[in-house]
Amino acid sequence: MPFRTIQIDIDDAVFQAALNRATAEGKAIGELVAQFLKEYADGGQAVTAQPTTYTVQRGDTLGRIAKKFYGDPHKYPLIQQANKITDPGRIWVGQVLLIPPLPGTPSAQPSGEVTTTPPAPTTTQPVPPPPVPTAPPKPAVSEPPPPARPGEPPPKPPIQWVGSPNFNRRRKPDDISAIVIHATANSSLQGVIDWFNNPNARVSAHYTIGKDGKIVQHVRDSDRAWHAGQSVWKGRHSVNDFAIGIELVNLNDGRDPYPEEQHQANVALCAWLCHQYNISVDDIMGHVDIALPPGRKSDPRGYNLDRLRREVAARLGEPAPVR
Ligand SMILES: [Zn+2]
Repeated sequence: MPFRTIQIDIDDAVFQAALNRATAEGKAIGELVAQFLKEYADGGQAVTAQPTTYTVQRGDTLGRIAKKFYGDPHKYPLIQQANKITDPGRIWVGQVLLIPPLPGTPSAQPSGEVTTTPPAPTTTQPVPPPPVPTAPPKPAVSEPPPPARPGEPPPKPPIQWVGSPNFNRRRKPDDISAIVIHATANSSLQGVIDWFNNPNARVSAHYTIGKDGKIVQHVRDSDRAWHAGQSVWKGRHSVNDFAIGIELVNLNDGRDPYPEEQHQANVALCAWLCHQYNISVDDIMGHVDIALPPGRKSDPRGYNLDRLRREVAARLGEPAPVR
């Protein structure tokens, strides 16, 4: 069968325009060119183009994409190199990847759509990257919280119980009158769960909120979690006695962002807790505000606690607190 090969310079403006159209139509560039030539060229022969592109979908890994295009997940380094990806575990939904043709074949095509010659087996094959879920797409502009309707309590947000052995009883189970916000100084929710599940760590919090807004609970509200250490709030020492501790997954370096999903989950959780235990919005504070001696703790660095208090007050239908 005769093949027509089109060489494409990726810096070419025409190619960029075609790529934009392909992306908008959810097609690979090769598919679009092939379609064009099928419609307008004589004979409607099989046409190939190189390179083709692929837009990363939820659940994709480089290995899975390599399987899709080459029929072999072990060929992922071809895609990794073509896109100058340093960490093969890090791709994201919506990322447009160049899919280079396999050496010795005219083009790369996803299997199932176009018949391709199966690639020759190789003897020394690198291990494909583990299937890491790709990051969710970035949210658009943050929505303002819905205004509280009079008489309507804030709903309990979805919370997953994970437990922790690191707690003791409050002297009075209903002695709950403050919320302490922390940053975990790490980058993963699972890391926090594992750490708080380690009895040797002797630390915990009631809740941790992941970067995606997922809330997990380690300790019952009526129990005393171990998060604040030496501390004082409004003249009362040992804040763990009377506080709920909430950890935000964040590096606490002042640069790591707190994504909007995470912040909104925190607003929802704090509003629900304030309503549940009649906690004043003014008694939501950061670990930095209570740690003794002063300066011992800096978390949650870079987090806007004033905005949190304002938005929680709005959820509760209260005026914004004045500091
Ligand atoms: Zn802390």
